[in-house]
Amino acid sequence: MRNLVLILGDQLDADSPALAAADPEHDLIWMAEAAEESTHVWSHKQRIALFLAAMRHFRDHLRDQGFTVDYTELDAPDHGGSLSSELSRAIEKHRPEKVVLVEAGEYRVQHSIEGTCNRLKTPVEFLDDTHFLCSIDDFRRHAEGRKSLRMEFFYREMRKRHGILLDDGKPAGGDWNYDRENRKSFGKDGPGEIPEPTRHEPDEITREVLELVERRFPGHPGSLDTFHWPVTRRSALARLRSFIDDFLPNFGDFQDAMWADRPHLYHSLISSSLNLKLLHPREVIKAAESAWREGKAPLAATEGFIRQILGWREYVRGIYWLHMPDYLERNALGADQPLPDFYWTGRTPMRCLSQVVGQTLEFGHAHHIQRLMVTGLYALLLGVKPKAVHEWYLAVYVDAIEWVELPNTLGMSQFADGGVMASKPYCASGKYIQRMSNYCKGCPFDPAKRTGDQACPFTTLYWDFLLRNQPQLEGNPRMSMQLRNLQRISDEEKSAIHDQADRLRADPAASHAVDLWF
Ligand code: FAD
Ligand code: SF4
Repeated sequence: MRNLVLILGDQLDADSPALAAADPEHDLIWMAEAAEESTHVWSHKQRIALFLAAMRHFRDHLRDQGFTVDYTELDAPDHGGSLSSELSRAIEKHRPEKVVLVEAGEYRVQHSIEGTCNRLKTPVEFLDDTHFLCSIDDFRRHAEGRKSLRMEFFYREMRKRHGILLDDGKPAGGDWNYDRENRKSFGKDGPGEIPEPTRHEPDEITREVLELVERRFPGHPGSLDTFHWPVTRRSALARLRSFIDDFLPNFGDFQDAMWADRPHLYHSLISSSLNLKLLHPREVIKAAESAWREGKAPLAATEGFIRQILGWREYVRGIYWLHMPDYLERNALGADQPLPDFYWTGRTPMRCLSQVVGQTLEFGHAHHIQRLMVTGLYALLLGVKPKAVHEWYLAVYVDAIEWVELPNTLGMSQFADGGVMASKPYCASGKYIQRMSNYCKGCPFDPAKRTGDQACPFTTLYWDFLLRNQPQLEGNPRMSMQLRNLQRISDEEKSAIHDQADRLRADPAASHAVDLWF
């Protein structure tokens, strides 16, 4: 046999360069399920099921294409438990001339494969990942010589390089960014009718996987009852089509809005399909731009959506590979609290958090502002260790893969990288959540109060966060307005805020309010 062509669980791309270079007659495709990938950090049941079901469908697709696929299932007898143990066994069994794969998305996996092949003295070739629109080397070149990196400049370069939303070389409509139009809340009347996202009922292969996951991982978080994620390219394309037709026109306006018991609103729910590489970002961007050019979606919504994919998604990957492996250990604000237990149960009287954690456990999904300005914000304000926050986000979302999750969590949401990802901490009081959602109605707390029994924990902790971190944040011009407001608070009240924040750190679920609630 010539090459062992390794396909990882998040490389389910039929046009992958590893497959393009493979010869069905002489090369063997190798794929393996490994329990370690679901246990090295804890993992939501839907996340495990999604990977396994998508991998098994892809295996069958490759066999239909004429490839020979050596595939190890999780329950195979003598399974070594990890990717590296199975790869060692495969190399010893097949004795390939070379192992070929697309560069891994995750630092840990890349190094483990390299280590295994070196140990067994088998050459390994990593191919550039053509799924992304900016290669790791291109990002390094973009970063070279810049004192600080900002997504917005990177995004403009990407628009120009790929000719996206341009008219005669200028940004369509005259502006690069229409974010100011994309921050509406639903107001008093709420979201009204929103179409249901397409559901992908599990077929036989997926049903088998769901049973396997229930049997092998019974103690893992989340439920499989609502599993409806696309696990094939065909179903991912159907979800993309339905988003473009039914949701994109309102995506922009309500991108940051939240509403109780309405978990998905106008969001696309395609992140897991993109991250498994069932969809290519280029086709997603093209579909959105075409909808705008055909008059089916407004420019602000289209630009806002494209920015997430062409801008943020490519940018966070660049940051990940630029700063790993040290990035994982960063803790610029010296946060040292444990992650509150209710992040695994949703049991807290704080309605925003019980809603967002609840939907996370139910679906393995929450949208960006829920992740950033509810679960992420509370951890930031409380001072939770960034690595513990990172492990939670990596565990609970179906789209979680370290290259995208880590910079978003540790950098954007916890400011643990000291400003690499974001120019200032995303810190706000409960009033932000009140403005963008209806969560505060029916919550025992009052977002306007910072001390006292009814004080909203976000609000107390926000002021405490500013007081605690004032020396470090003072040099940041983007924080000056927020810090100036501290001058309006008396020393007596500052001390009361400090005491109340200490009580919250001892009881982070704010369970003292259960009495207020009933
Ligand atoms: P939509 O709101 O419809 O957005 C469209 C697409 O844009 C998404 O599918 C996604 O591919 C991309 N996108 C949007 N925002 C970002 C972003 N900040 N970074 C990268 N891509 C983005 N996204 C992940 O894919 N995996 C993660 O593990 C992940 N962890 C996150 C952790 C935190 C703390 C935060 C604040 C954000 C995280 N995100 C992550 C980004 C974002 O929240 C999700 O991509 C989005 O909620 C997925 O839902 P959707 O497909 O409906 O997205
Ligand atoms: Fe959340 Fe505070 Fe609003 Fe309650 S009052 S829902 S805790 S922001």
